[in-house]
Amino acid sequence: MVITAHPDDAEFTVAGTVARWAQEGNAVIYVICTDGSRGSNDPKVRPEQLVTIRRAEQEAAARILGVEEIVYLGYEDGTLQPTLALRRDLTRVIRRYRPDIVVCPDPTVRYYGDGYLNHPDHRAAGDAALDAVFPSARTRYIFPELLAEGLEPHTVREVYIRGALSPNLWVDISDTIELKITALKQHESQVSRSQGWEERVRDRARGEATGQGVAYAESFKRIILG
Ligand SMILES: [Zn+2]
Repeated sequence: MVITAHPDDAEFTVAGTVARWAQEGNAVIYVICTDGSRGSNDPKVRPEQLVTIRRAEQEAAARILGVEEIVYLGYEDGTLQPTLALRRDLTRVIRRYRPDIVVCPDPTVRYYGDGYLNHPDHRAAGDAALDAVFPSARTRYIFPELLAEGLEPHTVREVYIRGALSPNLWVDISDTIELKITALKQHESQVSRSQGWEERVRDRARGEATGQGVAYAESFKRIILG
């Protein structure tokens, strides 16, 4: 289960891993917290149009990667907070789909290097996701209203935190980097105004592979839960 803030986050960050897992026969579920409605500064595009456009883009990208299902939580883009309501919604999907692995953004990172501020929605999604994994999803009487919906506790085995400054796991995406690029191309409303993004995506995956003996990688902080 890949939990993200925005449509396109999964493609930019973990699509190579997702494609690999799908090819290996695993069911991959996306959970997208926001509606993507603020993802354009074009005054001719209205937020509600953007919701529809970005859903279609997300679905096209997911098809290419072999994602089985997408859950949209529909929170407003740009102002996501790690509220109890978001934590409950994520707990609900974890208990419903019962994933072995949850992938989410690193909620602790405010900025990368000297040229990139992390989006607050990414931090909020990561924060609520980790709290949903532990303790909410596995603890019977947290959110007892979920029991009333027939959702029993579920223990997630592993968490893969994306964007961590100190990764401990590198996934070889050499065979799936092209699928990642093709999936990203489906997010036309996002990538069409960005020059050279393909090369930046390749450069980043090459950089992450440094010292790993592979051509391209995506790195994670993996936490194995008892
Ligand atoms: Zn994002």
